[in-house]
Formats: sequence, C-alpha cells, structure tokens
Amino acid sequence: MIRAKDAVKAVGQAVIDNKVFLTELDQAIGDGDHGINMARGFERVFEKIDALQDDTDFSTVLKTVGMALISSVGGAAGPLYGTAFLRAAGACKDKTEIDVVTAKTMLDAAIKGIQDRGKAQKGEKTMLDALIPASEAMGKSLADGKDSRACLSAAVQAAADGVEYTKTIIATKGRASYLGERSIGHQDPGATSSTIMLEAVCKVLK
Ligand code: ADP
Ligand code: MG
Ligand code: MG
Repeated sequence: MIRAKDAVKAVGQAVIDNKVFLTELDQAIGDGDHGINMARGFERVFEKIDALQDDTDFSTVLKTVGMALISSVGGAAGPLYGTAFLRAAGACKDKTEIDVVTAKTMLDAAIKGIQDRGKAQKGEKTMLDALIPASEAMGKSLADGKDSRACLSAAVQAAADGVEYTKTIIATKGRASYLGERSIGHQDPGATSSTIMLEAVCKVLK
C-alpha cells in the first residue's frame, strides 16, 4: 500500500531535483524564482511531514503540504499550489488508499481551487494548461475502461503535451503576461512544475 508521506516525498524530491530547470524557465518569461520558490516550499513541507507518523492518512498529509506551501512560498505559485493541495486533501477525507477515480476527484478539486484563486482558464499559459488536460485524459481513459496504469500514463502524457502547447500561446495571467507576444516560444514554468509533480505521483501510484 502506498503511504501518503512517501507519495509527497517523491513529489517534493522531483521538484527539488528540478529547481535549476524551473528557475531557468522562469528567467525567460518571469522573474526567475519559480524553482527557488517551489524547492523552498517543499523543503518546508518535508520538515512538516517528518513530524507526522509514517502511516498518516492522505488527507492529513496533503493538508499539511498545502499549509506549508502557503506559508513558505511567495509569488503566484505558492498560494495557488497551496490551495490545490488543500482542496485535494478535502477530496480524499477518510481514504486510506487512492484509486484512479479518487485521484481524478482530487485533481479536479485542485484545479477548481487554482481557478477560484487565480481566475485563469485553459489556454492562458499557466499550470492549468498541464493540469486540465491531465484530468480530461484521465476521465477519458476511465470512461474507456482502461486500467489504472493506463489512466495515469494518459494523464502524464496529456500534461506533458500541455507543456508543449504552452510554448505556442501568449501568457495572459501572471508575470509572463507582461511580455505579451514575447512569451511565445517559451514553455510555462508552472505547467512544467505541475507535470513534474504529476509524473512523480503517478509513478508512485502505479
Ligand atoms: P511569480 O510569478 O509570482 O514569481 P512563480 O514564478 O513561482 O510566481 O510562478 C509562476 C507560475 O505561476 C506561472 O508559470 C504560472 O504557471 C502560474 N500562474 C501565475 N498566475 C496564475 C494564475 N492566475 N492561475 C494559474 N496559474 C498561474
Ligand atoms: Mg516567478
Ligand atoms: Mg516571484
């Protein structure tokens, strides 16, 4: 059985491993702090979850993650990802195991949280351009009767395709929107970090 703490550690480690890459992406179209912000946030997350028992349930662990990110990550991404994790926590109360249906419910709750807070839609060159296609692909795979591995792989592939798509569009939310057309040709840092996190969690869930 997968433990929530192990899943979060995998996600956080993937973010920390990509600190420089994410920062370079944000240097091109933002203020060059996305990797630094996110790595700092997950260092804080690790401190907080280390204090929890190893078998702590998903909802409690994810709530801890959300609160740690909100309190330690500045900028746009901290509150947005923090809200996403808090909403995901709310969507898996009392669950000891996360099946794909629950995972999709959690992803959708996270997306709703990001949209409530940041007011962005698909196609604005943000993290949503990875997360929304991931959810859609998961939903389609589930409807097609695919097994959980296939559903998770489809979600990760759709997120990665979403990152590629962000290269082709103009940013209309966040700092990158200040660049207007000059944001074209660059992939969105937040869509990239979302895909990195999704890939890490799906690898653990599979
Ligand atoms: P900041 O731009 O404040 O320095 P970060 O660099 O940490 O914050 O995060 C930038 C990322 O946040 C962007 O790449 C984008 O994906 C995401 N983002 C910015 N504004 C929004 C929004 N309104 N909705 C969703 N995501 C957003
Ligand atoms: Mg930034
Ligand atoms: Mg910043």
